[in-house]
Amino acid sequence: MASIDSMNALLVDELRDIYDAEKRLTKAIPKLARKATSDELRSALEEHLEETEQQVQRLEQAFEHLGERAKAKPCAGMKGIIEEGDEHVGEDYDDDDLRDAVIIGSAQRVEHYEIAAYGTAIAHARLLELDEVVGLLEESLEEEKAADRKLTEIAETVVNLEAASEDDEEQSGSRRFATSSVRATAQAQGRRRSSARKK
Ligand code: FE
Ligand code: ZN
Ligand code: FE
Repeated sequence: MASIDSMNALLVDELRDIYDAEKRLTKAIPKLARKATSDELRSALEEHLEETEQQVQRLEQAFEHLGERAKAKPCAGMKGIIEEGDEHVGEDYDDDDLRDAVIIGSAQRVEHYEIAAYGTAIAHARLLELDEVVGLLEESLEEEKAADRKLTEIAETVVNLEAASEDDEEQSGSRRFATSSVRATAQAQGRRRSSARKK
């Protein structure tokens, strides 16, 4: 393979890496969405999947501006983050909220990696005064940042064991199960404490 001999060639290389990462994500995000229990989390992931498909197209437009063929170069980083996410999400969890919390953690790792990659590529495109490319990449960067913010919001609100309280009658069956299993644990702990006192 030819050596990278200019900032232009470096930018093309970076975009090929991001292109590969985004294409992997179009397959990985639906898998995460399917495993999510919270409706809000699932729809956030589904919305971001649609954005990700657009990001793939934006990268193809950027290659066009650069007069380069849209070609993916394996992104070992994203491959690893996706593999790690699969591993964590596939563990056994006593309730669905805990798995949702792990899905959010995996998705946020993805977003942060993308934010870093786009940030660097934008800086390089700016050095080369490639305004159209900068514009395309910035659009995607903003979507990544918004997706990350949304995930933080869901982590702090929807996935909350305290919020899944007894008086919340509108909860889904799985959420009720989560709550009752948490309550059962608390009751068992209470029993252990009171029997310890009797001795
Ligand atoms: Fe993306
Ligand atoms: Zn990469
Ligand atoms: Fe993303």
